Amino acid sequence: MGACANGRVRPYRLLLTDFTGRATALSPALPVNLSVVIPIYNEEANIDALHDRLTGVLAQMAVTYELIFVNDGSADRSLALLLALAARDERVRYIDFSRNFGHQIAVTAGLDLAVGDAVIIIDADLQDPPELMPELYQKLHSGYEVVYARRRSREGESAAKKYTAKLFYRILARITNIEIPVDTGDFRIISRKVVDALRLMPEQNKFLRGQISWVGYRQTFVEYDRAERAGGETGYTYAKMLRFALDGITAFSDAPLKVATVSGFAVSGVAFLVILYTLYSRFVTHDYQPGWASLMVSILFLGGVQLIAVGIIGEYVARLSANVRQRPLYLISDTNIKQLPAPPKGAS
Ligand code: UDP
Ligand code: MG
Repeated sequence: MGACANGRVRPYRLLLTDFTGRATALSPALPVNLSVVIPIYNEEANIDALHDRLTGVLAQMAVTYELIFVNDGSADRSLALLLALAARDERVRYIDFSRNFGHQIAVTAGLDLAVGDAVIIIDADLQDPPELMPELYQKLHSGYEVVYARRRSREGESAAKKYTAKLFYRILARITNIEIPVDTGDFRIISRKVVDALRLMPEQNKFLRGQISWVGYRQTFVEYDRAERAGGETGYTYAKMLRFALDGITAFSDAPLKVATVSGFAVSGVAFLVILYTLYSRFVTHDYQPGWASLMVSILFLGGVQLIAVGIIGEYVARLSANVRQRPLYLISDTNIKQLPAPPKGAS
């Protein structure tokens, strides 16, 4: 148990064994219809309100559920609030990371440990309305494996953020060979089948919404208006957003590598014509200027193109090497989760 298809041992199993000392004696699975996975990074202002709204909505849904909060190395009182919640609500599970690993990895850990037949991924800042959960759940059960929530509008975000997000999704849609829905975040419901498929995807640079599209099956969406962040500040700095965008592109498209090649050919072609022209004017017409300007321009231009090409290759190589190293994706410092999901089907 615990080994997946490529013979690698999944990190959380090792860790759970380490600190509970009885991983093989875990209780048999109790049926949970729905797991809600919530990544938490400095959300002390939102946790209690979020819990109230989630439980309020879930109480009307006639489901057995668990709430999985993944504390992604918060520097504020988030963990203390989660521990308090877990003490008074037995359906609250928490996973406390050893440091900040990033939003996508936090969600991945939640998916790894969720036992529900379906899983909802939702942000902690109440930008994703919990009130949409019944609709997601119902739609899933009308014959889909993925129902994502598409933003009709976005409140309270800077024009720059909205514009860059929009541009990014359009570019991504154009250059990738799978269809990643535009204007969607990770707010969605996925079936056990899809969760298991994701657990079989070991890549280090997670871009979940791309992976979920890649998985296939019947997928659909519902629309909603995205609210403003309830409290606190965004945990997504521009640096994190850029890394996220690059992860998305490099994981699902080879177009940038091809751009490097194509521009290399184009520039070489132009350079060849310029060489012909230079030779012609030097030896035939003798009409030439000892011009350093054209020289400088072509050197700078070629240098630029070469650096871009090398940089693009570097982005891919960096990700290759991250995957070759096979480090665990995250380290758990503490959790109250006792019951582990069955190994994903398809794993040996
Ligand atoms: N988050 C996280 N780790 C991070 C950054 C964010 O777990 O390093 C969580 C955060 O607590 C929230 C969700 O990911 O639940 C989305 O983050 P945020 O609201 O800051 O992003 P935005 O909505 O501004 O894109
Ligand atoms: Mg947010």
